[in-house]
Amino acid sequence: MQLVYNFKEGNRNMKALLGGKGANLAEMTSLGLNVPPGFTLTTEACQRYNQDPESGLWKELKDGVLEEVKKLEAETGKGFGDETHPLLFSVRSGAAESMPGMMDTVLNLGLNDQSVAGLAKSTENDRFAYDSYRRFIQMFADVVKGVPLAQFEYLLEERKESKGVEEDTDLDAQDMVQLVQAYKVCYQETVGESFPQDPMDQLFEAVEAVFASWNNDRAVLYREINEITGLLGTAVNVQTMVFGNMGPDSGTGVMFTRNPANGQRELFGEYLINAQGEDVVAGVRTPKAIASLNDDMPDLYQELETVAQKLESHYLDMQDIEFTIENRNLYLLQTRTGKRTAQAAIKIANDLFKEGLITAEDSVTKLTSQQLETLMHPTFDPEALDQADQIGHGLAASPGAAVGRVCFSVEAVESTVQAGDSAILVRRETSPEDLAGMVKATGVLTSRGGMTSHAAVVARGMGKCCVAGCSDIKVDGDHGTFTYQGGQVQEGDYISIDGSTGSVYQGQVAMSGALMDDQYDAFMDRVNDAKRMAVRTNADTPKDVQAALDFGAEGIGLVRTEHMFFGQGRISEVRKMILAKSREDRQVYVDRLYQFQKEDFVGIYQVTQSLPVTVRLLDPPLHEFLPHENQAIQAIAQDMDLTQEEVAKRIEVLQEVNPMLGHRGVRLGISYPEVTAMQVSAIIDAAIEVKQDKGYDIKPEIMVPLVGQIPEFKQVKDQIEVLVQGRLEEAEIDLDYSIGTMIEIPRACLIADQLAQEADFFSFGTNDLTQMTFGYSRDDAGSFIPTYIENDIMEEDPFKTIDQEGVGAMVKLAVDKARSVKPDIKLGICGEHGGDAKSIHFFDSLGLDYVSCSPYRVPIARLAAAQASQE
Ligand code: PEP
Ligand code: MG
Repeated sequence: MQLVYNFKEGNRNMKALLGGKGANLAEMTSLGLNVPPGFTLTTEACQRYNQDPESGLWKELKDGVLEEVKKLEAETGKGFGDETHPLLFSVRSGAAESMPGMMDTVLNLGLNDQSVAGLAKSTENDRFAYDSYRRFIQMFADVVKGVPLAQFEYLLEERKESKGVEEDTDLDAQDMVQLVQAYKVCYQETVGESFPQDPMDQLFEAVEAVFASWNNDRAVLYREINEITGLLGTAVNVQTMVFGNMGPDSGTGVMFTRNPANGQRELFGEYLINAQGEDVVAGVRTPKAIASLNDDMPDLYQELETVAQKLESHYLDMQDIEFTIENRNLYLLQTRTGKRTAQAAIKIANDLFKEGLITAEDSVTKLTSQQLETLMHPTFDPEALDQADQIGHGLAASPGAAVGRVCFSVEAVESTVQAGDSAILVRRETSPEDLAGMVKATGVLTSRGGMTSHAAVVARGMGKCCVAGCSDIKVDGDHGTFTYQGGQVQEGDYISIDGSTGSVYQGQVAMSGALMDDQYDAFMDRVNDAKRMAVRTNADTPKDVQAALDFGAEGIGLVRTEHMFFGQGRISEVRKMILAKSREDRQVYVDRLYQFQKEDFVGIYQVTQSLPVTVRLLDPPLHEFLPHENQAIQAIAQDMDLTQEEVAKRIEVLQEVNPMLGHRGVRLGISYPEVTAMQVSAIIDAAIEVKQDKGYDIKPEIMVPLVGQIPEFKQVKDQIEVLVQGRLEEAEIDLDYSIGTMIEIPRACLIADQLAQEADFFSFGTNDLTQMTFGYSRDDAGSFIPTYIENDIMEEDPFKTIDQEGVGAMVKLAVDKARSVKPDIKLGICGEHGGDAKSIHFFDSLGLDYVSCSPYRVPIARLAAAQASQE
């Protein structure tokens, strides 16, 4: 096993072994760029060290390092620890993924009481040499021995004070010589041993310290926060020192090859003349903008431009570069793909494509779904967030940022909005009765419920910011307050919620708005060309459908018809339909609902025109529609000529112990065939009407929910077919309709081959499928899933990202079974996972025809589908 690689041996593809920094130093070396020579100790060496740190570095590794040091001595003509021409190193960490939180660096390594004299002589600069030695002792003590920097800073301050000067630069060579003495004494006192004089000892100790830093608290925390897993450790880069602090012809800086804030093609960054890297970081002196290097050293600026171009055309992306100028010689110390804002990411992708550097397909990989999200929704100002007072954390249920007054009821939302203010609806959990409040509020916060709870699903559908299941708060709507650890919020107080992170803050946090422009449109056009799967939407109103089409949806994958019943004027008819005592009574209300439903479908078809529309027959448990408050019960009873007791009794009869597994979906259709008939008639009659009126080629796809058995599907399908045929014959019109089923019960997956023989299409309802495969109630999972994630029992919420191993395997089984009997059966997915980037990659790998998601997820789904196609 090779443990040490010279920069001449590695390349950019060896990040796992050499770390990002090491791999790119090797790549730049082989590109012929001016990289100070050096070598990298591998992440495998780090892993082995950390398995048994007590034993220290082992012989094979030390021999490898020694050999590389000898090579570098030969290459540079300098000697490690040499009294005349000393070779000095920087020692830096560098993992496969950038971890700026744990960067441990030691500079000027190799200096000792002899070689410092050599450095002074060879540079003819005593002050520089002893200053370098002083800095080295301090850094070594800090990184390797854990001595607080303040101990040394104190000595420096003391020296300046005794000389009566302000700046470090006011100290002369003699001061530095004395400071070195003082630092060595301080080192001896704090560490309990003298400062190591053998340069190989210095090097090995520094390597050990960097290896060990992989497991220090801040590195572990950084990996945890950034979900970095599966890495072996950090590599260590040992590189010949170059000095940016050799005088006015030297300097150091960092630059991006394009502007990382807006994507403009220009060098962007800063530099300091006569300084070492840590001076830039320390912020003692204010660096200059890179553009002014063009005045200070025009030839060097020119060279940087050439380097930028060379690296961009090699890496095919914007780069973030560290450089040092030593006596007008430019050296490159690092390059990596530069971090950028979402806006810059789009502009850079567009420009790289236009410049012919990358293909259209490659260009769509240059924006992450998180970045796209920030473009679509308002976000909190990062600086304001730093200052904000966080009072809780829940599920990031629907992205965006919202600020408003706390409202515990629909009425409160309405009056707040009427008064010209914005409202945040805060509930323990929401129900269909909260819909009007959700529409008017700028955000929704619940203390219970999961990623597929009512609040989460409905808010996502509306593109409304929502934090769900925030168990840190206790809602007491009756008394108009909610409490959190350490405080209380009253109705009417301002709060701010972040639906992209799940955080809840007190007061008003400053925001910045959504941003979608021509650059975005051009980018998304290429996204469309690059993807294989279609992207549809889950939407129930013409307005939502229009929003989804504007976002690029290619049809509707799920109309939840029960959502159409929630509107004012309808819910009471639904209630009467449910409460009716006899079939004849019921028919009266069914007929009224037919009118509503037909109008709704006409409205939707007028927007979708010839695009496919999947309409799902009634799904939720009936009692969800029933009134709970006395006043409402009384009104219904009066309307229906029933006594209040009769209504209350009927409501009680309809209550279920476990409604999620109860009387819903196709089961309702079988119990109440007149409801199925009403819905199907409305779907078809509306289609006929719009086709005749406008000439659109309407293709209704009628979908039966919660099917688990062949006979139940067949019974409903037969009923639908007879009905549709009758309507079409009557109207003397032909319509390209189809009848399919949702696959959302494990049993349906197991009999998918038989089902496929009966159904024209499948749409995977992965919300229910997840619920039933795990046995986790989708409405209550919020109470324990966070604990499961904290305990590493699972990595992610399976209601957000599909569990590939279990639920995903059910989907795959069903796909394989269905295709085995009907190879061209249309397969889609309309659970919430249809809007989750990671899940979409999985669905693409299964060869599904489309994903369907709420309108505001459509761009994310398009991007994820395009990126999945590139894999
Ligand atoms: C599902 O179960 O995944 C689904 C789309 O249906 P609903 O969320 O309406 O139950
Ligand atoms: Mg379902």
